[in-house]
This record gives sequence, structure tokens and C-alpha cells, in this order.
Amino acid sequence: MSKIFEQSFERSLEQLISRAVSGQSFEAWTFDDTKSRRDAEARLRELGVTARIRSAYKPLLFAFLEEIDIDGVEAIEISYPVHADAPENRFRLEAYPLASLAGEAKITFVARPDGEFFYEVLLTRAGKSEAHTVFAPNRVHIDIVGETSVSPTGWLRPAGEGKGERLETDFEQLFDSAIQSVANHDWGNDEPYFEELNIRVTHPAEDLPLTVGDEVVSLREALHEDFYFSLLEFFQKKSGRPLGDRGLKPGQIVPEIVLSTGEISVAVETRPLSTGFSDGGDQNIETASEPPAANQVNRLLAEIGGDEFNARSRSGRVLSARHIAGSDAAVMISGGQHPNETTGIVGALRAARRLVERPNAHFTISPLENPDGYALHQRLRADNPRHMHHAARYTALGDDLEYRTRENAGLHLNEKDIRFKAQDLSGAKLHVNLHGYPSHEWTRPLSGYIPRNFAMWTLPKGFFLVMRFQAGWENEAEALLDKVTRHLGAIPGLLDYNDRQIALYEIHAGETGFRIINGFPCLSSVDERHSVPMTLITEYPDETIYGADFITGHTAQMETVLSAYAAWQEILPARNADALLV
Ligand SMILES: [Zn+2]
Repeated sequence: MSKIFEQSFERSLEQLISRAVSGQSFEAWTFDDTKSRRDAEARLRELGVTARIRSAYKPLLFAFLEEIDIDGVEAIEISYPVHADAPENRFRLEAYPLASLAGEAKITFVARPDGEFFYEVLLTRAGKSEAHTVFAPNRVHIDIVGETSVSPTGWLRPAGEGKGERLETDFEQLFDSAIQSVANHDWGNDEPYFEELNIRVTHPAEDLPLTVGDEVVSLREALHEDFYFSLLEFFQKKSGRPLGDRGLKPGQIVPEIVLSTGEISVAVETRPLSTGFSDGGDQNIETASEPPAANQVNRLLAEIGGDEFNARSRSGRVLSARHIAGSDAAVMISGGQHPNETTGIVGALRAARRLVERPNAHFTISPLENPDGYALHQRLRADNPRHMHHAARYTALGDDLEYRTRENAGLHLNEKDIRFKAQDLSGAKLHVNLHGYPSHEWTRPLSGYIPRNFAMWTLPKGFFLVMRFQAGWENEAEALLDKVTRHLGAIPGLLDYNDRQIALYEIHAGETGFRIINGFPCLSSVDERHSVPMTLITEYPDETIYGADFITGHTAQMETVLSAYAAWQEILPARNADALLV
């Protein structure tokens, strides 16, 4: 291990208390949970100070949760600022999921082009109007990779002093100083730059579950996300690649953001990679209510039979897969490319257990393509089971294995080899690749709020399908989407679930931009990047669901595989017959 940086921070709330003078009155905005802010107000009151301390994060949502009474309100109109340096819907997104918490009241959002950092709220109650102004302190800044961002910030407004001024909070200081420490370190010029880069933060903010879906407001989860992607962007820039490039292999970046009883600290160090799993017990896979143990995944895979093939991860973990050879049109099935998307891993196994019963079954099954990411996910879930943990999306090399090619892999083809082997063994022309995405809002509050390059994933919008096909396969792609979505539409509750998420998404984010096929949002496009002609990708909002929601998720994944496999037995022979006629 090698320590790079370590620091403790005085809590902003403590600072406000220690500097207060009896008789003063002020308003402040900090990154703290409700309880901490109320406690600080009470302590200030004992000192003879009148203070209102609000949330700097999602200030409009918190104004409704803490201050604005909507009992008996018939309509809510919210005007939100549109800032020149931020996407049009930035402040509407930050109000999410207000529309679902407004009960019967009709809610409308109106864009205001002035870019001034406040919301204007107009309530109609018993025919009377009532106006509130909700301040949303933000700053325009240049981040570590030179991008201009508009980010929420702390603020202090003493009574009688007009607008007040920025208060650089503990949350912001911690983030900036840790990012700077990594930026100032000498990493040399060879990727990977490290095995594990560990950022351990202790922070006292408790998560706030909301009453809609899987929604939860979490400052610590947001810190994980912003640390992970900001550091990835820093190394991208250092390597000379464009932002968003997925070929970078810096090593495994691991922000661990743990709950403290009050202290705020950060330690940054490099560590050797781990090689084991921290498995829980076995579950009945058909009714698994949480991500399964890696050991159980391997045993269930072995039970499926066929011929084993494998690859090795960067850390040395074995990826195991199976080839069941038969006379059917072959299909490649995979899960766990992004192992924080957990329903696909179970869905792939459950589907394979059924397909193997078919007399002429022909498929490959590779349920856990990124075991290093899965092991990291297990580790991170122990502290924060409901955080989305995007650090675990990537391999221990810090890349997305999908974008690793024979050309750019260098010494590290590793996990990607399992795909090449599956295609060579089966000759499959269809790959069903099971994925997921966040089931609650994903933010980066310290870098412009909306996750850069992932804006379309920031809010849940139902179970949807992505079809990628090589030129000349469009008819087959259309036929497959039609058959699969018809099948999925027959699953009780799934369409209603989609409709609810999409309606809320559209109020806060705008149109999904998806085609709706038989009630399911779909994206379909030519893509020559894959060597298999057709790739069907599922996207279930499964980061991070448990219990009955988890079962619904892996069942939808399984049904997608089963229906795609059955449809392929008609679609591919029809194409081959057409080719003979020509
Ligand atoms: Zn994914």
C-alpha cells in the first residue's frame, strides 16, 4: 500500500456554530442530511442565534419536504432557471422526483431563461395563489479536466446582507482536495497506472429513502459517483484520450464512502488487487432476492452441462462459461459485463436452465463476464447496499470490457476472451447481452450535477431494449424486437411499471426519444463494432433493487432470453431460406 493523501475536515455545521455570535440571524445552505441541519439549528438557538440551514443538494425537493406545505394544493407551477453553461433541463432534473410526491396536485414546469439560481413556486390552494422563492445556490467553475460546470454549492446569508456569499462546504473541500492529490501525484506514463486506487471517505450524511419506487437521496452515493467518474476523466485526459473514451485502462478506482458518526475525512492510497469473493449463502435461484454468491453462480453453471470454456480476469479470477452444442440456430447469452447490473446474471442462469431442456438446444452461457467488478460490488454493497456503485461497472483495469479489442488490449485481453471463444465455438449470429441501469436518480453534484456522457441514464425509465445490428440485418432486427416485446407485454405488471417510470421521467427530463414497440421503449441502430451480426441488449432498472423487485427484474431478463431464443429459431432459418432463393 502506498498512501497518497489523508485529511480530516471541520464540519461546516460546526464552523457555523463556533463562529456564531448571540443575537445573530442567518440562513445557510450545506450538504448535510435533515437531522444534522435541524440539530445544528437547535444548538444555535441555545446560543441565542436564529438560523435556517437548508440543503444545498436538491434544494427544491428539500423545500417541499421540509418547508412548503402542499396540503390541499390543487396546482403547482414551478419556474426553473436555464443557465447558458448547463443543459436546458438541469434544474428541472434536480427537482426530481417532485412530480410524484405532489399527490393529486397538477404540477407544471416552466423554463426561465435568466439563469438566476432560484426557483419560483406558485401554489394554487382553494382558488388562492401563493408564491415562494426557493434559492438554489450554484457556482460556475472549471473542473479538473477543463470543462465548465454549474454545480450546487454551500451558501451563507446573514440577515440583512442581501444575497450573501458562497460557503465552501466540507463536502466540496473534501472532494476538491482528494481529486487534486491524485492529479498532483506522479503516475508515470504506462497503463495501468495502479492496481487499486482506493479513496476512503467517512461522511455523516444518512440516506433519505423517498416514497416513490426505489428513489433515495444520498449524498454519499453521489460522492462515490462523482469521485469515480471525475478520476476516470482525469486519467482519460492524462492519457491523451477524448472524454468519454472507453478504452482507457488506468487500474481499479474504488471510492468507498462510509457513514460516520460526525467526522469527515478522506484517505487516498494505492493497494494490490484482491482475488477472492465475499460471498453470502446460497439462494433458490428462481426466487433469488439479492445478487447471488459467485460460488453459487459457478455451481449452477456447471449443472447446466455442455463444454466448459473460460478466461481469466485482470486479477486472476476465472470466468467460466458453457457451450451447449445442438442443431438449433445458436445464441450467445451473457450477463455481468457490468456486474453492478445484477438482474442479468440471475436471468441468464435461469434462462439457460430452461433452454438446456430443449432437444436441439444450441447456445453459450457466460453469466458473469466481469468477476473482478462483481467482487468489488460485493465489497461496496457491504457498506451501502442501496448505492449504485458504478466503480463496480468496470473491470479491474478500469475499462469496459466491451470496448476492449484484440487491437487495443495489449497484454490484457483477459475477460474479453470469453466473448471471442463463445463466438468461435458456437458460430452464433445473435448475442443476447443482459444489462441494467440505475433504479433511482444518478447524479454528480460536484461536476455539473448530470452525469457527463451518461445523461440518458440519469433517471429510471422502465425496462427497455437496445438492438444493434450489422448492415443487412435490419429486417431480422425488426422481427426480433417485435416478437420479444410481444412476449414481454404478456408479463403481468411489466407494462404498467414501465408506464409509471416513463411518465415521471418525461415530466423531469423531457421525451425519452425512444421508439415504443408493443409498449416497450426500444433503440435500434446499425453498429459495426460487434463481430456477431445481431446484439440484443436489455436494460432493466436494477441498480440497486432487492426482494420482490429483484425477482421481477431477473424474471423479465430470463423471459427476454427465452423469447429471443425461440424467435431466433424462426428468424435465422427464414433469412437462410431467402438467401438460397436469391
Ligand atoms: Zn450495462
